[in-house]
Amino acid sequence: MLREDQLSLNIPAATKPRVVIVGGGFGGLNLAKKLSNKDFQVVMFDRQNYHGFWPLLYQVATAGLEPDAIAEPLRKIFGSDDYQDFHFRLVKVKGIDPTTKTVHTLIGDMHYDYLVVATGTKSNYFGNDQIKKYSFPLKQIPDALNLRSQLLQSFEQASMTKNPEIRQSLLNIVIVGGGPTGVELAGALAEMRQHVLPTDYPGLDFSQMNIYLVEGLDRVLPPMSAEASVKTKKYLEEMDIIIKLNTLVESYDGNVATLKNGDQIRTQTLIWAAGVSGALIDGMPQESVERGRILVNQYNQVQGVEDVYAIGDIALMKSEEFPKGHPGVAQPAIQQGQLLAKNLDRLVRNEPLEPFKYFDKGSLAIIGRNRAVADLPGNKTIGGFFAWAIWLFVHIAYLVGFRNKLVVVSNWLYRFFTYERGTRLIIRPFVRKGDRVKRKFFDQYDTDA
Ligand SMILES: Cc1cc2nc3c(=O)[nH]c(=O)nc-3n(C[C@H](O)[C@H](O)[C@H](O)COP(=O)(O)OP(=O)(O)OC[C@H]3O[C@@H](n4cnc5c(N)ncnc54)[C@H](O)[C@@H]3O)c2cc1C
Repeated sequence: MLREDQLSLNIPAATKPRVVIVGGGFGGLNLAKKLSNKDFQVVMFDRQNYHGFWPLLYQVATAGLEPDAIAEPLRKIFGSDDYQDFHFRLVKVKGIDPTTKTVHTLIGDMHYDYLVVATGTKSNYFGNDQIKKYSFPLKQIPDALNLRSQLLQSFEQASMTKNPEIRQSLLNIVIVGGGPTGVELAGALAEMRQHVLPTDYPGLDFSQMNIYLVEGLDRVLPPMSAEASVKTKKYLEEMDIIIKLNTLVESYDGNVATLKNGDQIRTQTLIWAAGVSGALIDGMPQESVERGRILVNQYNQVQGVEDVYAIGDIALMKSEEFPKGHPGVAQPAIQQGQLLAKNLDRLVRNEPLEPFKYFDKGSLAIIGRNRAVADLPGNKTIGGFFAWAIWLFVHIAYLVGFRNKLVVVSNWLYRFFTYERGTRLIIRPFVRKGDRVKRKFFDQYDTDA
């Protein structure tokens, strides 16, 4: 294995203005696509070599899709001749020095003419280290694989224990956070409980499997309309999901979740979908950061530094319409990336820049088959089959890569007719650090042991 000091970024000298983009998510990807046919050298740094389609991540966690169906290699996306002076490097960016216009990565530094920070968010545990240590986040593909393994391992163990208390704690799943991720996960788990698990584990009584959805506010899906929340709650209750509103989880030690009101739930699986904060990099002036996001003006320029831009979830662009910034969803990131490409081009041509105006295409959430909600433009909310059909269509339309679209559509069709979730494989067992009992349990499958 090479050491970091044996590697270098190895990027050709720029003959055109160099734009360094940190992050190949929704914002970075759309910026780079639009920028690469203009007169720039484009350098993209990402700590993972793929663009992830996070709206379908919960389906990887619940054995509905394999990870390669929701991710596309960045080198493949930018591999064609259309992207001549585009350079991708798989590195984590540590920080920036705006005074020397330098980006610091783990394997070297790079000068930029323009820098765009598009690093998205990370899970926010609100300072609770114990919850961070024992809970399951759902932000990246490894998180989804860990969770999938944990769920399947729990069912395997539940089928083998004679101790009813242990069995119950393996069958209790607690999801913290009633936003779209929490709701979609809860719905998918409820469908597994109804259609898949009883056949896989005939000896287990799945009426004992409890799915808790814990939300601190007074309604589920707080970012969506009140009508969408009411419909969603009804769907969740029809699917026997236990909803706890106005409820905070105070602690979780890997065995017991203690709620603020003193109630306790014994569970081996607590899923943290309760909050995110910006994935900041070092070197941003303090006055440019507010509530974990980078303050930008209407052109996505970072306040207080020259030639530095931020787009997507990490950017906080306040306006009269959005005093707390835009919602942390894919559309603002996509639209800001696309507009910034045009604006950088205008900038080098000394043309006036166009301010960002968010075009709200609506919001969607799926709870289960024929059960979804959609807040449509024009303040209209719909639910049921039509919302479900729109959800399916929109997610296929925005998924990157033709192969991925085919794989996802065929998986969904297969599941629609058979109720099957084909990827119930524990490929990489999840063993919590320091969890010796579980380690011992899975050691028996180690063929080298
Ligand atoms: C589980 C889940 C479900 C979601 N569901 C929906 C949904 O249904 N609809 C919707 O509209 N939105 C949804 N979102 C939100 C949506 O995915 C985000 O709003 C969107 O991804 C923001 O785009 P972005 O470009 O700002 O960041 P991202 O898409 O997160 O991309 C950030 C990129 O930066 C890279 N990066 C971060 N830090 C560094 C570093 N230091 N060095 C190098 N690279 C770095 C990351 O690897 C990543 O590739 C969901 C998000 C999650 C996590």
